[in-house]
Amino acid sequence: MKKIAVAGAGFSGAVIARELAQAGYRIEVFDARPHVAGNCHTARDAGTGVMTHVYGPHIFHTSNEKVWNYVRQFDEFMPFTNRVKAVTNGHVFSMPINLLTINQFFGKTFSPKEAESFLASLGDQSITDPQTFEEQALRFVGRELYEAFFHGYTKKQWGIHPSELPASILRRLPVRFNYDDNYYASTFQGMPKNGYTEIVARILDHPHIKVHLNTKFERSMDDGYDHIFYSGPVDAWFKHSEGRLGYRTLDFVPERHRGDYQGNPVINYCDEAVPWTRISEHKHFSPWESHDNTLIFKEYSRYCEESDTPYYPIRLAKEKSQLRRYVELASEERKVTFVGRLGTYRYLDMHVTIAEALDVAERFLACRASGQKMPSFVVNPLG
Ligand SMILES: Cc1cc2nc3c(=O)[nH]c(=O)nc-3n(C[C@H](O)[C@H](O)[C@H](O)COP(=O)(O)OP(=O)(O)OC[C@H]3O[C@@H](n4cnc5c(N)ncnc54)[C@H](O)[C@@H]3O)c2cc1C
Repeated sequence: MKKIAVAGAGFSGAVIARELAQAGYRIEVFDARPHVAGNCHTARDAGTGVMTHVYGPHIFHTSNEKVWNYVRQFDEFMPFTNRVKAVTNGHVFSMPINLLTINQFFGKTFSPKEAESFLASLGDQSITDPQTFEEQALRFVGRELYEAFFHGYTKKQWGIHPSELPASILRRLPVRFNYDDNYYASTFQGMPKNGYTEIVARILDHPHIKVHLNTKFERSMDDGYDHIFYSGPVDAWFKHSEGRLGYRTLDFVPERHRGDYQGNPVINYCDEAVPWTRISEHKHFSPWESHDNTLIFKEYSRYCEESDTPYYPIRLAKEKSQLRRYVELASEERKVTFVGRLGTYRYLDMHVTIAEALDVAERFLACRASGQKMPSFVVNPLG
């Protein structure tokens, strides 16, 4: 039986491990942390009993039926629809911007058609080819909505002025001309009844899989493995030879209260003067449970230093050119495939992570069957 090493026990590593174990390979999974599930890790808070999303709120949504059926093999998914609120200038609004937001913000009773032409009249038509986030927002929603909902929030989230961010971040117009306040447009949405860590533990529960927690997988450990799937940071694999790839990190500051703190899972704070970007109240992620006390997290965004947890890849021009050099180095690896959000330096939702991991495993089996070399990347990280 051939031996495979998987670095990282998040969704990427776990799904690849499971698929290959089922195909008859013997898998050793390593994770530097003391738990599985990577950044999707959930755990019960000892103080309140609330199921906590330890590395920030995670809502499962997808339009990919294969992925939806895949995850539901490992836990029951409870009905959950993410409805976000946003506080700006002392008022609460519904997000993403929809007909209720527009009518409340401007004190109107517009129909969908009226709201659409009103917004078109607010947009800055002199910007014909928006290049930056700011231009994109001004072009499509106009100055008032941009300043209320995007300017301060984006500055806090990315640490730079929206005029320095690419328009691609706001490529899809986040405005709806109806009263639909479902944050996601995906076909399926839900929350695992027993949390994400339980799902990942069940994915990894296979007689051919051995999990080593608290164990960082190093390049020097590759002896004796037929292939390595690495879901750690691509720059760390090469000892940051091309410099550290930049990330934003998040600080989650907990508070425990009695009863219901904010009446909603997530509320965004758009004003620049409020230092946190959002507050999440985790018992509302499990609305089928009941708890007398509550746990909230105020979320602060800042530049990720060496000892911090990397969350959002920055991916501006400087990072893209570093990434290009890492991709070149990776292509010289004989038996390593870089996967997942850190291995490919991209923001990936869970459903995309799972879909890609299933593809990676399938590709590996096809390469082995045909005698071809397994590529270093199955998806181009620069794309
Ligand atoms: C704040 C935030 C909120 C999010 N919310 C959502 C959401 O609502 N819905 C959604 O679909 N997605 C969400 N996501 C995305 C989700 O977190 C990712 O899709 C998912 O974590 C990717 O899984 P992964 O296995 O690729 O990476 P990770 O979960 O990061 O797992 C990688 C693992 O590798 C380990 N590791 C790293 N280096 C090594 C090494 N050398 N040796 C051993 N182990 C190593 C790490 O400890 C980690 O456990 C969110 C992401 C963030 C940042």
